[in-house]
Amino acid sequence: MRSDDIRELNIELPKLKNGKNEFRFEIGKKFFTHFESSLVEEGRVSVILDLYKSLNQLDAHFRFEGEIELLCDRCMLPFAYPVIREQRLIYAYRDSGIQEDDSEDEVIYMEPKNHLLDISQEVYDFICLEVPIRKVPESCKEDCPNNPLNLLKDKGIIGEVEASEENTDPRWEALKKLKSDN
Ligand SMILES: [Zn+2]
Repeated sequence: MRSDDIRELNIELPKLKNGKNEFRFEIGKKFFTHFESSLVEEGRVSVILDLYKSLNQLDAHFRFEGEIELLCDRCMLPFAYPVIREQRLIYAYRDSGIQEDDSEDEVIYMEPKNHLLDISQEVYDFICLEVPIRKVPESCKEDCPNNPLNLLKDKGIIGEVEASEENTDPRWEALKKLKSDN
C-alpha cells in the first residue's frame, strides 16, 4: 500500500482483533507535504507496524526501514540517508488507568469516542528523529568541492591518507545488508 493518501494511516479500531494486528505502510514524498516546514521533504520508508490489542491498550511496535533525502550541510547537495529504527509505544484510553509512569514505553492517550486511530503524526515524528544534527554524507568527504579537507589536499598541505580517512556510519552497513537481503 502506498501511503500517499495520509488517511491510510488512520487505523479503524473496531476492525482490530485481539492480539497481533499487522500493518505495512509505504511512506513517500507526498506524506511529508502534510507537515508544515517539514524537516524531511523526500524519502522512501517502509513502516511495519505490529499492533497488539489487549483489554485496555494497544501496544504498538513500529519498524522503519528505508531512506530519506537530506541536504548536505556543507555543499547543499541532496543525499540519501538510511532510516532504520524500532520504536514501541502504547495507545491507551485516559480512563483505562494506564499511567505513563507504569511503562518504559511512551503512552499516547486516545479519545474514547474516536473510531479511527491516526498514527501519521507518530510516524512523522519517529522518521524526523532519525535526522542527524550534522548532515554530511561520507561521499562528500571525497567529492565535495567545498570540503575543507579537499582544499587542503589540493594545496598539498595534507596527504591523501588523512583526506580520505572516514568514519563509517554503521547504519549504512546495516542498510546495505537490508538491501542485499531483499
Ligand atoms: Zn557535501
